[in-house]
Amino acid sequence: MKRGRLAGAAVALSGALALTGAATGAAPAPQPEATLLRFAAIVDGTGERLPGREVVVAAGRIVATGDALARRHPAARRVDLGRLTAAPGLIDAHVHITYGFCGPSRGDAWQQLLQETPPAERLVAAIDNAARTLEAGVTTARDLMALDGVDFQLRELIERGVVPGPRLFLGGTGIHPLVMPLEAAGSTAERVASLSRRAHEVAGRGAQWLKIFATTGTGADLSGTRNYDFPELEAAIKTAHERGLRVALHAYGPSVVPDAIRAGADSIEHAVDVDDQTLRAWAAAGIFYVPTIDHNRWYADHRGEFGYSTEDEAQLRAFLMRNTAMLGRAWQAGVPIAMGSDALLGMSGENTRELEWFVAAGLPPAAALRAATTDGAHLLGEQDRLGRIAPGFTADLIAVDGDPLADIRALTERVRWVMKDGAIVVDRRAGRNQIRPARYCTRSGSPDSPEVPVRPASSP
Ligand SMILES: [Zn+2]
Repeated sequence: MKRGRLAGAAVALSGALALTGAATGAAPAPQPEATLLRFAAIVDGTGERLPGREVVVAAGRIVATGDALARRHPAARRVDLGRLTAAPGLIDAHVHITYGFCGPSRGDAWQQLLQETPPAERLVAAIDNAARTLEAGVTTARDLMALDGVDFQLRELIERGVVPGPRLFLGGTGIHPLVMPLEAAGSTAERVASLSRRAHEVAGRGAQWLKIFATTGTGADLSGTRNYDFPELEAAIKTAHERGLRVALHAYGPSVVPDAIRAGADSIEHAVDVDDQTLRAWAAAGIFYVPTIDHNRWYADHRGEFGYSTEDEAQLRAFLMRNTAMLGRAWQAGVPIAMGSDALLGMSGENTRELEWFVAAGLPPAAALRAATTDGAHLLGEQDRLGRIAPGFTADLIAVDGDPLADIRALTERVRWVMKDGAIVVDRRAGRNQIRPARYCTRSGSPDSPEVPVRPASSP
């Protein structure tokens, strides 16, 4: 019951309202004054460099961009970001922000996650992950599977300003064989009904997304065997859409992709090896592809901690290449693409390294930036509010060292400052404070395969 109440309350909040405290019953914050930010350059989520070097924000919104804005805003507080370049706050379209990992001393990572972690401990991990995600410059994230309602609790804590973290769009506990065992689901009609029921439940808890694990595949398991048949997928997607949810389909292999297109999914996660004809249909349907390449690099780099064999690692690294090749082909075919890291189990904070694979796949840095800003905003249905540095948009900005249109690592390695909803939430410039909460557990060990490059070295 408590979980439902928290979820309901979280739904009632919007990011802007949460800052004022108005929706939570807290004392209203004093009306914020305008702030005039000055950068070396401004790069918008369109991938274009804007004329001018200044941005004025007030009440959590961007008011103006350009030059000599102090004349029109003489009372604005001034913040000089020196030689840093502004970009919109980044959007990570695929995270598991509640998944912590205490290290191998407590046994298998998946066993810990799925069976041995009590909800209170999940929340501690989630709070740590949320801070790390924000520090990476990610001001908005879509979470696509969580247990025990901890994602809703985290969202409420962030929206109330209790803990730092990105704005969250949630999928709650989706449709997964773990929570809906295949063998126990009965006849086709019963299975259709049960998937439809689950879609109702997820909507009722305050999620915006339904996640369906349409195939196997996670961790060192790179199989893409179908979990659910077309009638089941179609029923779940239809119900979700009727309830106002969008639907993300987990599909490791290509087998289920035609069904996902036919049934009207809103995004397809992970998929590799999709043939050209299907890719054309995919592009025509306007369904987003979220390739989530880099999380397999995370598993490979940390295979000792995850208990994976050297063969597992070799397969993970081979999958990275297949996934990167697929991204390049999807991009060429005109499939809309959003950046999603699949950050989980200790990976939070490395979310944006995904963009280095985008460039390795042949996308220009400007397109990679769009995937993590304007395109991510489209995926979420927030294209009029998020992902751009333009008047009327939410004041989510990052300041990076370098030119992200020339060197993607300006985004992936050199985020120095983050503003969310008009508030400075990370400041790593020399001599400044930075948020650094206590870590969840202490992950022991270090990458155990240092001979293998941990960055995409070249295009496939
Ligand atoms: Zn995932």
